Amino acid sequence: LVNADGSIGETIFGQMTALAGRHDAINLGQGSPGDPTPDFLIDAATEAMRAGVNQYAPGQGHRVLIDAVAEQRRRCYGQQVSADEVLITIGATEGLSAAIVALVPRGGEVIVFEPFYDSYAAATALAGGKLRAVGLIEDGAGGFAPDWEAFERTIGPQTAAIIVNTPHNPTGLVFTAEMLTRIYQAAVDSDAWIFTDEVYEYLVFGDRQHVALASIVDDPSRVVSISSAGKSFNITGWKIGWTIAAPAVRVAIQAVKQYFCFTGGAPFQPAVAAALNEHEDFAHTSARSLAARSETLVPAFEHLPGVRVSQPQGGYFTLVDFAGTTDEDAYALNERLTREFGFTGIPGPALCAAGTPVSEAFAQTIRYSFCKSEEETAEAARRVRAAA
Ligand code: PMP
Ligand code: GLN
Repeated sequence: LVNADGSIGETIFGQMTALAGRHDAINLGQGSPGDPTPDFLIDAATEAMRAGVNQYAPGQGHRVLIDAVAEQRRRCYGQQVSADEVLITIGATEGLSAAIVALVPRGGEVIVFEPFYDSYAAATALAGGKLRAVGLIEDGAGGFAPDWEAFERTIGPQTAAIIVNTPHNPTGLVFTAEMLTRIYQAAVDSDAWIFTDEVYEYLVFGDRQHVALASIVDDPSRVVSISSAGKSFNITGWKIGWTIAAPAVRVAIQAVKQYFCFTGGAPFQPAVAAALNEHEDFAHTSARSLAARSETLVPAFEHLPGVRVSQPQGGYFTLVDFAGTTDEDAYALNERLTREFGFTGIPGPALCAAGTPVSEAFAQTIRYSFCKSEEETAEAARRVRAAA
């Protein structure tokens, strides 16, 4: 959390997890999956540990995972990736932070679509960059789309980078190829980097498809594609992620990354490689069960009179807007719903930059996750309906 005075405080996820804990409430706040980690991953990591993969991994990561990531990009998106373009990171979070610190100059502007995952603001602050938020606005059909007018107004020669998170946390928007092409063209015109955050890449619902921006553009050299294994394989605690960028850019990101953590998760790296190579079906199955859980939770919120509920196209979350139903702000409301009804979310304003007009639009929104177990999601839905 970046405070108004520029200092960095505890993440909202830690704060809301503590709130849920104090009231023994169901934690629909932090996106921490309720389903178990599959045995094939636990076995593969155990095997790697027994085989002695317990010391520092090479700075770029273990070759077996580098190759698996390159192959996954080719297989899923037709993107040609060579081994010297891949860097293994401590989750997508470290990849994002290292890319931002490596490539955004002091005072350079970073455009984010608001609301946004909180680490973008903190990493931009670390880099001495300036965050510029462009709103996602309701499309009238339960979904969201970028506010293009605001985007055109915001981008310019001062723009150093644009961060695009698809599927999107917290709105559930899956950016279309058309949206991504428009963002790319604007980045070319302003000579800006694009950092994609694709951590929910497998978790798209119905017949929608995740589009990897770097795979559809003429010149991916201004794109850093970032993802991780946490959400795809229910291993958020393993923190294995990666960045994909042109070789010289990868070297620049790695130079920063080595002073964040150097390397990490050595025995988890071959296990994630095996998951990508052989168990992609697990991630596709997760997408279907998350879609089903969203269909348990979303209608429960729709049962509350007057609220507006986003229809997630992918990812872990729905955003519920309580405007017009209460005078409470999102923090007070979330606390009361936790206390009285036993379910906790993440206040939408915590995922906005303080004081922006967009953050006003999200003042009474709360983000809820449907990534808990089927039973817990069903129990949460009962509690939500009881709050009507
Ligand atoms: N980006 C987004 C949009 C997220 O929601 C999250 C957290 N789930 C992350 C990045 C962090 O990913 P990781 O745990 O791999 O660092
Ligand atoms: N990415 C997860 C979320 O948005 C949690 C991240 C965290 O706890 N830092 O809920």
